[in-house]
Amino acid sequence: MNRSAREGKGSGYDLVITGGRVIDPETKTDRIADVFIRDGIIKKVEKARGKVKAKEIIDAKGKMVVPGLIDMHTHLREPGREDEETIYTGSCAAVAGGFTSICCMPNTQPPIDNQETVKFVYEKAKEAKCKIYCIGCITKGRKGEELTEINDLVQAGAVAISDDGKPVSNPQVLRNALEYSRMFDLPVISHCEDLYLSANGVMHEGFVSTNLGMCGIPSIAEEVVVARDIALAEFTQARMHIAHISTEGSVELIRQAKKRGVKITCEATPHHFTLTDEIIRTFDTNAKVNPPLRTKKDVEAIRRGLKDGTIDCIATDHAPHSIEEKEVEFDFAPPGLVGLETALGLVITELISKRILSWTQAIAKLTVNPARILNLKGGTIKRNSPADITIIDPKASWVVDPSEFQSKSNNSPFGGRKLWGKVCCTIVEGNVVFEG
Ligand SMILES: [Zn+2]
Ligand SMILES: [Zn+2]
Repeated sequence: MNRSAREGKGSGYDLVITGGRVIDPETKTDRIADVFIRDGIIKKVEKARGKVKAKEIIDAKGKMVVPGLIDMHTHLREPGREDEETIYTGSCAAVAGGFTSICCMPNTQPPIDNQETVKFVYEKAKEAKCKIYCIGCITKGRKGEELTEINDLVQAGAVAISDDGKPVSNPQVLRNALEYSRMFDLPVISHCEDLYLSANGVMHEGFVSTNLGMCGIPSIAEEVVVARDIALAEFTQARMHIAHISTEGSVELIRQAKKRGVKITCEATPHHFTLTDEIIRTFDTNAKVNPPLRTKKDVEAIRRGLKDGTIDCIATDHAPHSIEEKEVEFDFAPPGLVGLETALGLVITELISKRILSWTQAIAKLTVNPARILNLKGGTIKRNSPADITIIDPKASWVVDPSEFQSKSNNSPFGGRKLWGKVCCTIVEGNVVFEG
């Protein structure tokens, strides 16, 4: 990144990003412009003029200047499994991937199901490189039985509730959570999985699982719960967000629900719009995820859902695991992959380059859309917004090398894959926190 200082009379700005293509879906901006920053705030966005004065100038000519990316679904392993990831190392992985805000899921050990643990996360977040937002549990101990003190969690700063990693199997419990969360305008994030149907499955149930003789997780294990949750959302009029949808049927259920006006939103992960269950033939445990990688038809349906707006957000489901845990037989490996450092490259390579999404559509799913769902400040490059910005070189390519990840773990099935689009610079509240 070309950085310089040009101070002079009347400069008055801490940082100006000059000459980049500014893409801001919220303000429908897509033009070459200069972004002026002072005291961590965006002061103005103006047509590029060439000469500017500031304490620091970043020349972004030929680069994309977008709102700092927001990941609404990240697993940081602190408290409990600091050998796999900490809030700090997770934040380093985030900024390397262009994310300026991440939302951590509460399935830690112990789980984030009370005010003290939420406060612990925010205390640790003070030393993080990016903004951390905490998601609290729906039920105590994620047992799916008794609701947490949602009011306490909200007071401590929880931005949503979820038992992610597990579903809330009892619909009456989820109904109560939805009715209660409505009072706080708090989204409830649902991990849709019928545990009777998924049972002992380790991969998608279909041709490949039959071929390999492995126990499968059928698409309906997800779809019956998506259908149930749509009904609950419609009935309670609360805000339901469906995590990591992976099947053609789920996309269609949500498409129809949205048409009826149900308040429902959803996300898809980069691995679910990129990989199919064919990869399991390699027995790479890094490709074992939950929900599992599905078929080509499902991947195509996810891509169509992203294109037509059925799928609101792209979220990583970043799930670090140690080598010891993953280097076991496929059946015994825990599900999950590290996603923060490959998400943007996969979006650019698989969706933007293939003309499935425009830059504006793709960036919206990584910025303003999650910001709106979670009521977060930011996700836009406009006057008086926090100066959280990501600068991307769309023409640079790189080869994924998990051993070089900032994350403490390197369980990625994308090693060796060539991706387009490199993060040049990540800026949080006007400070450069990462340079690529
Ligand atoms: Zn989940
Ligand atoms: Zn998750």
